[in-house]
This record gives sequence, structure tokens and C-alpha cells, in this order.
Amino acid sequence: MQASDFQLEADLEYGTRDGVNAFKNNRMVTFNADAIGLLRQQLIDAVGVDTARDLLLRFGFQSGLADFLQMKTAYDFETPDDLLEVGPALHTQEGIVAVEPVEMEYDRAEGHFYFNGLWHNSYEAEQHVIHNGESDHPVCWSLMGYGSAWCSGFMGEPVLELETRCVGMGDDVCEWVIKPIDEWGPDAEPYIAALEDLYAEV
Ligand SMILES: [Zn+2]
Repeated sequence: MQASDFQLEADLEYGTRDGVNAFKNNRMVTFNADAIGLLRQQLIDAVGVDTARDLLLRFGFQSGLADFLQMKTAYDFETPDDLLEVGPALHTQEGIVAVEPVEMEYDRAEGHFYFNGLWHNSYEAEQHVIHNGESDHPVCWSLMGYGSAWCSGFMGEPVLELETRCVGMGDDVCEWVIKPIDEWGPDAEPYIAALEDLYAEV
């Protein structure tokens, strides 16, 4: 299979009577985005913005890793590029964000990885602005966790996705970069620390 052939709806089974929707071996649920936005806001109010960021980063990471492991085993992709590129396709089709990859280069033997692109219609940025207004830092925490997990699973080593622009900061689009954790500077340290034990699972 090629990444461009993947259609989530073709393999998503709707349990209209038993209340269980399944995508291969994973149960999938659909929530109202406004309700998740409110939950997210209450989390920020309850534990503070830094801890909320860490928890949502971890939530996204666990989601991304579960999706990656499922896709890796459930489909026979033609090339490694297809396995990497289907991550953005799945995240888009899940209704989380429209992912527009721009540059992708990697060498798994050398541990080299660089991937950047844009996010359009991030539900997380949208909800953050509704509840908090514009922030002075990127706010698509769960999305960054998701991409970090997918690409760490792909590489078999810890890589981190961080936003360089974010709609939650007033930018017109979210822009992101993914690269190995040791290639990031001090600004990345809180994110790496929050994911430290989860990185051990990839
Ligand atoms: Zn963003």
C-alpha cells in the first residue's frame, strides 16, 4: 500500500448497535471538539499551564504511538516513506489537524532525521484561543506529542516535534519541525523531560 491510498473510513467499523467503533484492533471514540477544549481549559486551570502542557504532550504521544504501531503491523506499505507519510494522512483523517508536509529527509542507519511542514485547522489552537486568547508560546501540545511519537517509532530513536509558529500565538498557520532530541536547544528541554519515560517505549 502507498500512503496516498490510505482511507481511514474504509477500515473504520462503526458499531451502531454495540457502541464500539473499531479501527483494526483499536477502539476509537468521537468527542465534540468544544467539550475537549473545555476539558483542556479546566486542566490548565487545575494544574497550571506547564503541567497541562506536559500532560497533553504525553496524551498526544501515547495516541501517536498507538496509531503508529497499529499502522505498522496492520498494513503492508510499499516503502518506508509510505509508513512515515501515512502518519500525517491519518492525523488529518482523524479530524485533528490538516497536515501539510514540506521537507522530509532521513537516514535511519545514520540516525539522521529532519521533517518539517505546516498544520492547518488545528483544533487544539482553535480551542486554546477560544478559552485563553492568544498565547506567547506554541499551544498545539497534543499534536506535537503525536508527531513526536510517530516519527520516534519510525526512527527507533527519540525525535521531537516542536512548533516554530502557531495559530495560538496569532500566526496565520502552525509550522513545525521534527528532529532528534539532541539537535534541539534549551527551549526543548521541558518537552524532552516530559516525554522521557515514553521515549523508552519506542
Ligand atoms: Zn499550533
